[in-house]
Amino acid sequence: MKRLLSAILVVLMLVPMAFTVDAANVAQGTCGEGMTWTLDDMGTLSIHGSGIIDNYGLWNEPPWYDYRLNVKQVIIYDALVIGTNAFRDCTNMEKATVVGSNLAIIGDEAFWGCSSLSQVHFGNTVQYVGSSVLTGTAYRANPANWVDGMLYVNNILFEIDYYKSGALNVRQGTQVIADYAADFYNCQVTSINIPSSVKNIGDNAFHNCTAVTEINIAEGVQTIGEYAFDEAAISSLTIPNSVTTIESWAFSDAKNLADIHIGTGVTSLGKTAFSGTAYYDDDANWDNGMLYCGDYMLYERSSWGYDNFVIKDGTRVLSDDSFSNSTGLTSVQIPDTVTVFGNRSFDNVPNLTIKCYEGSLAKAYAEMRSIPYEIVCKHQFGEYVYDNNATCYYNGTKSATCALCGEKKTVEAEGTALGHNYGEWWVEKEATYTEPGLMLRRCDRCAGCEEKEIPMLEMPVVKEPYLSSYGVQLTVHDLYDIKDYFIAEGDWNTYREVKNNMVVSIGAAKLGKNTEYTYILPHHGVHTVYIRYNDGSYKLLKTEITGAEPEFAINGLQLTVSELDDIKVIRTAYGEFDSVGAMKKAATHRAFTAKGNIKGNNSYKIQYRENGVVTVAVCYNDGYTEFYTYEVVQKTPTVEQSRNIVTFGDLDGLYNIRYAKGVYTTASQIKAAPGSVAIKPSKIDENGNITVTLATGTYTFCVQYDDESYNYYVITVE
Ligand SMILES: [Zn+2]
Ligand SMILES: [Zn+2]
Repeated sequence: MKRLLSAILVVLMLVPMAFTVDAANVAQGTCGEGMTWTLDDMGTLSIHGSGIIDNYGLWNEPPWYDYRLNVKQVIIYDALVIGTNAFRDCTNMEKATVVGSNLAIIGDEAFWGCSSLSQVHFGNTVQYVGSSVLTGTAYRANPANWVDGMLYVNNILFEIDYYKSGALNVRQGTQVIADYAADFYNCQVTSINIPSSVKNIGDNAFHNCTAVTEINIAEGVQTIGEYAFDEAAISSLTIPNSVTTIESWAFSDAKNLADIHIGTGVTSLGKTAFSGTAYYDDDANWDNGMLYCGDYMLYERSSWGYDNFVIKDGTRVLSDDSFSNSTGLTSVQIPDTVTVFGNRSFDNVPNLTIKCYEGSLAKAYAEMRSIPYEIVCKHQFGEYVYDNNATCYYNGTKSATCALCGEKKTVEAEGTALGHNYGEWWVEKEATYTEPGLMLRRCDRCAGCEEKEIPMLEMPVVKEPYLSSYGVQLTVHDLYDIKDYFIAEGDWNTYREVKNNMVVSIGAAKLGKNTEYTYILPHHGVHTVYIRYNDGSYKLLKTEITGAEPEFAINGLQLTVSELDDIKVIRTAYGEFDSVGAMKKAATHRAFTAKGNIKGNNSYKIQYRENGVVTVAVCYNDGYTEFYTYEVVQKTPTVEQSRNIVTFGDLDGLYNIRYAKGVYTTASQIKAAPGSVAIKPSKIDENGNITVTLATGTYTFCVQYDDESYNYYVITVE
């Protein structure tokens, strides 16, 4: 703002001074060069003169300060500037009016603490407004004066509500945004939209708007003050062509700001305007120690040890203070594209020589400022010619020669590196189980080698085989890389013994891809498993196979099988068999299943009716099957008749003897016949016999044993 003040002062000298003084004044005096004031008995403070009302402060009170409580209103005629604190604490002032169209600047805190001030008119010519101008006034306290969270007077935006959130849309028609207009408690504003009517954005106007991700500055805006948008959260920014001034630190510390477009109109650019941004931190935006944005040169890093700079050809504008105070600098070469030199660009660079082209603006600038300069050739380089010097690894160079001075310029010839010309791979070192191997190939041009690792060999899974069993189902587990294995009954230690007692041999082919195999053994007892591996080694495993075995009890026509836990089926058929399959085909085959006849019993009695050889197969759920063969023989007594006396012998297991007169074929017929007699085993005498004495007639006897053997005899007594 200082720069503006000096500009205005120049204007001031051309403006004729005019003022009038009323009678009936309470007090009067001056308040600046060519500026007078009067206070009348009605409480009207009138200020005349078209110049500057002085700046005041706590130790520099305005001349009406002693009368400040008498002031009911102030009328400012034609003043150009209202100085700082000018009307501070005029607590009875109700009205402030600016007359005329000259007022350009309102200083900081000008009406601070004017608690009765409710009517304000500042006109429409103000260009700069300081901070806290209306703090503590009735105008500010009146909610009716706030629009969308913003306090306006005429076309001035003075202040933005502490708690404003969301989009901040400055009212169209606004011309000035006061210094420190926004001073958020905890920024919740997400975007700031400055309309085309705004000319000047004050210092710190949107300072610390840390939630703002979008700033739209319309074409029309001219000045952006110091720190106006520092610490904003924006990532890109476009400065319209109308902007002529961007002051120092204006967008500094906007950490996400990576993308910046500055319009063509800027002639005063603070070198720190974008310090602390992502753009500033991106090396791609720097060239030979200088930060550029478009055709603007912003910043230099002489502090990093650079002592001479060559400004990039095409640069148009140098920032304010761009090289100032870089006391170690010895030269800066300026291209003839530069047309705007920043304020103080080369101030206090004592050892500087400007290098410039003949006839350039830079030369004129150096002459005008008495800076030593040196004319350099504005080279006219011809075509680049490849120097044919690339290697396997590096690009070659290409060179061009200046037609004017003969200087040669050599640059890298991109993409000319030859790359290696490798031969075939060979195995330098084989991989092992513990170390990777190595393959190599060699370049026939540079002898450079390329190597490639051969992965370490995978260790084969070494797992010990083991046995498990379910009854006679014997499973051998974890069979890796075997040739075959043998199972033998008994406890053996040598291959020969196992072979001699072998139950079965299982080959690798039978296993297929499986690593375990189950075989159903014919018998219980200790078994030995002998495993042979492909590498010639072997393993010996032993186990005892246990499980239920049937018990058989024979009683004449009956066979009782017991120990039937976990039984599946009992089969029987007449004849001698050693396989279930053959038994099933026999005509006399019978089966008794765990789910049927046997259910719930641990023993089962098989009844035969005829004599003969039978086979019984007892099959358990684990696959164990026991075959049992025996001869069924019906129990039969000895019978002797001697006239009317009949004697029966061999009566072990007798159930009873029935007889009756007549001829019968079944025991029940005998039982039902008239005069039927039943003799119990208790009648057996000491000789083991039963003797019956009969009357004359024909009788039928039935001798019945406990195995359901029935023996019929027809006996006649004459
Ligand atoms: Zn040259
Ligand atoms: Zn090579």
